Amino acid sequence: MNSEPRNTLPTWAPRVTQREIRRLYETDAKGVHDEELIDEAGYGLLARCLSSIDAAEAVRGKARCPQCSGIVTHMGRREELLRCKCGWELTWGDYFKTMQHMQLLGAEPVLIEFRSFVQAFPAARTPQEKTILIDQLIHQFHWYCKTNAPTRPVAVNLIEGRLSEVVAFLDSLSRGDRSTAGVAENYAQWDRLIEVNRDWYASRRKPNTKPAS
Ligand SMILES: [Zn+2]
Repeated sequence: MNSEPRNTLPTWAPRVTQREIRRLYETDAKGVHDEELIDEAGYGLLARCLSSIDAAEAVRGKARCPQCSGIVTHMGRREELLRCKCGWELTWGDYFKTMQHMQLLGAEPVLIEFRSFVQAFPAARTPQEKTILIDQLIHQFHWYCKTNAPTRPVAVNLIEGRLSEVVAFLDSLSRGDRSTAGVAENYAQWDRLIEVNRDWYASRRKPNTKPAS
């Protein structure tokens, strides 16, 4: 018989470390394509995206069983017992608690980006393709649907740190003439969208942290 406890808690991939991302950009800015570094960062981000997608599905009533990966449907009532065919069971309240304060949840437009990264990254053939996929992913924004304006950077869901730290971190990454083509353009767009939100970011991005262009 299965010796695992019946009420195993789900686990979620952590955000990637700033160190992993920094090393990737430092190397890339020298024109060096270190596949090991790229894959380490890329698959860390991919695992994180998958956790976000699973968390969003769980909130919508389709929770993934942490024991067999099967899907258990539920109505979202706190006391409701989720029961899987494999014998696993847990209340929805206890399941939900594991994903709180994890920076896991994003709205549909972000999930579309995450799903696309999950498909595209393993299929990318060259280190440059992989690098630019990572670059695009971490410079995305959440969009406020009522005004169609950018809000929080998606990076806070993917990279360790508080919002202000993550904004400063992305501003500080090494980028140069030898960086992969597209990196400079993605940064220019990021910079523009952060500035569009200047009021919102007033306390989060000091004017003097913006590198001269
Ligand atoms: Zn199961």
